[in-house]
Amino acid sequence: MLNVMTVDVEDWFHVQAFSHIYPVSEWNSQRTRIIANVIKTLEILHEHRAKATFFILGWVAQRFPEIVALIHDRGHEIASHSQYHRLVYNLSPDEFREDLRQSILHIEQAANVTVRGYRAPSFSVRPQQKWIWTIFREFGIEFDSSVFPVMHDTYGTPSAPRFPYKVKVDEGSSVLEIPPSTIRWAGMNVPVAGGGYLRMFPYWFTKRAIRKLNSEGHPAIVYFHPWELDVHQKRLDAGLKSRLRHYTNLSSFESKLHRLLAEFEFSTISDVVIGGKKTVA
Ligand SMILES: [Zn+2]
Repeated sequence: MLNVMTVDVEDWFHVQAFSHIYPVSEWNSQRTRIIANVIKTLEILHEHRAKATFFILGWVAQRFPEIVALIHDRGHEIASHSQYHRLVYNLSPDEFREDLRQSILHIEQAANVTVRGYRAPSFSVRPQQKWIWTIFREFGIEFDSSVFPVMHDTYGTPSAPRFPYKVKVDEGSSVLEIPPSTIRWAGMNVPVAGGGYLRMFPYWFTKRAIRKLNSEGHPAIVYFHPWELDVHQKRLDAGLKSRLRHYTNLSSFESKLHRLLAEFEFSTISDVVIGGKKTVA
């Protein structure tokens, strides 16, 4: 069964865990590692003949348009990860609209593509932000991957559906929501296939979780970041919780990703979920 691979394209200093140390005003003066890390990501995907949906930060597309062009040239899907990596639930509708507009502009200019997908920084979309779906439609966004049906201190809506579903915007138009994969355990949704969860759980657990999802007829929705392949990145003393989230098992992630890509087949959201290869309820 084809599963979905997604990559959130941001540099080491963009992540939420370090946002108090590196505000946007500091980004231009940081030593970027994004080009090497994206090239490494592309090489690994190519080695396993896998395609992925890349959610790209607009700031990255603006500063390094060649990265977007390179990802596009390799046949992957291009989508938005916002312009400045701000949490959506901290933005007003107008601030969100402007951030989305800028990200789409820079990404589309970089690679002559049409952006149809979005993922919020740190999955920061909550059900009370009903305006977000209308704004998505204003900009032609057809799919979103920002509502994580889990319990977490900074994000998550535990009661949200676990599998792709349509959010109706108005008569005749909707946005497809693509939640990252979870399994049910002890009455809870447990995230299994991305970021810190993918790094912290042993490989056999991830494999078993994906097998279980597939046996129930669902593709796994996996995500990772290019900086997770970068063992030489600068190590910050950003508090215990942030350090744990960002650095745990960084050294073993590359081999885990290779095993995952060797054992399962992956493609883009458009291919697997929208393109008719998997029907949506
Ligand atoms: Zn991010």
